[in-house]
Amino acid sequence: KRMAAEKSRRTFFSVYEVKFDEPLGSGAYGDVYLCRERSTGEECALKKIPKEFTDRDEFQREMNTLLHIRANGGHPNICMLRENFDEEDDYMLVFDLVDGGEMFEHLIKHGAYSEADASRLLRQVASALDFIHGIGVVHADLKPENVMLRKTHGGAIIKLIDFGCSEILSHPEDGGGVTEHRPPPRILTHKSGATTAYCPPEAFDDKEVALDSSADMWAIGVIVYMMLIGRHPFDLDCDASNEEIARRIKEQRLPPLNLAHNLSPSALDLIRKLMEPDPKKRMTAHDMLHHPWVTGETASEYIME
Ligand code: ADP
Ligand code: MG
Repeated sequence: KRMAAEKSRRTFFSVYEVKFDEPLGSGAYGDVYLCRERSTGEECALKKIPKEFTDRDEFQREMNTLLHIRANGGHPNICMLRENFDEEDDYMLVFDLVDGGEMFEHLIKHGAYSEADASRLLRQVASALDFIHGIGVVHADLKPENVMLRKTHGGAIIKLIDFGCSEILSHPEDGGGVTEHRPPPRILTHKSGATTAYCPPEAFDDKEVALDSSADMWAIGVIVYMMLIGRHPFDLDCDASNEEIARRIKEQRLPPLNLAHNLSPSALDLIRKLMEPDPKKRMTAHDMLHHPWVTGETASEYIME
């Protein structure tokens, strides 16, 4: 009888088997493993979050946002949560598997992208951001490690991951699948969670600034820079300390854009509008989606001299 009861309880391990020996990736608070649904053989990604190291607010942040995104229909360029389990020692989040690696790994291996390739990928990033910002979500931890690529015959497809730092700013009165427990509103700061090298200058201000979608747009500006030039704009040699990076961002010490790099005027225009110091003047995801370089009008034509 007891065995029957145990059998009927739907635990993570009753539904999935996991390949623990080599994680797909690791992050700040847990590893991500390849797993397989026992009944279908389908491969997925397990994000295992040990309760011991995670405060509940942090985990709830990720869950709330993922449920909110799902309740709004999801988006083709956002990696979707399939299901979640609350196990004894861990939270188990099961995601669709993204098989093409991180954009970060791609940059390390192959260096900068061509303008045409970067434009095609960034169109998808802009579309995902336009969607999340439209439903009141800020990602707040955009960086090449959290942008993944799925391989297809028609080229790579972008999948944004890791809503562990995200925030839901507005709650449209739709219920939205958002759970009861809601963390307090957030102030934009370089101190909590997010990665210093992708924080906008206002994150280092002495006066408090509320977190909003303009922070994501700055981070995308840094990513565009990295995709086209192959290096981080504030950490060109990859050895600066966080303090030094913070100082460079605050003092706007952006390396000169038009020298040495054969970028098209249109690409430079996009980077400048995303890495705009004033968050109120910074380009929005909607504007980015319609920028001629992002739509492909100017990027694919440009031929380096
Ligand atoms: P953290 O919040 O700890 O940074 P992430 O959600 O970013 O966790 O996951 C850590 C790493 O695991 C990612 O950078 C990526 O390499 C890998 N990863 C995450 N989700 C997937 C997925 N759905 N498919 C394949 N790999 C993934
Ligand atoms: Mg991450």
